[in-house]
Amino acid sequence: MHCPHCGAVQDIPTAALSCVCPKCNRSMQMEDRCISNYSATTEFSTCGSLAVEKKGTIIVQKKVVAATLALHGALKGEAIVFESAKISSGGQLKGRLKARTLVVEEGATLEGYVEITPNIEHLSVDSPAPGAAAS
Ligand SMILES: [Zn+2]
Repeated sequence: MHCPHCGAVQDIPTAALSCVCPKCNRSMQMEDRCISNYSATTEFSTCGSLAVEKKGTIIVQKKVVAATLALHGALKGEAIVFESAKISSGGQLKGRLKARTLVVEEGATLEGYVEITPNIEHLSVDSPAPGAAAS
């Protein structure tokens, strides 16, 4: 399980609904989320799964962070998925996607920059603080 804010790996019982990351002290939502209508937001993050239904649209100004992504509808913006992302037939992703694995079904739309890496836990989600890189 990864903190959606700083990317730190957490060992958290899956029964918990939310907790505070010991690394960045920000609260993490653990629940699975499902988008079934039009949703425009600045930022969206969960340690659980994110599903966007066929009629669902999520538009983010900053980024979407989730453990897994199941996209049947539309996502516009930047998405960071710590485990698997899947764009189903009819699904649309426009923007940026960073994920461990990606499945794109026939009939899906994917436009933008895609980065698939098995070492996503080493990628910082937020921009590093000034001076933090020096060690
Ligand atoms: Zn954190």
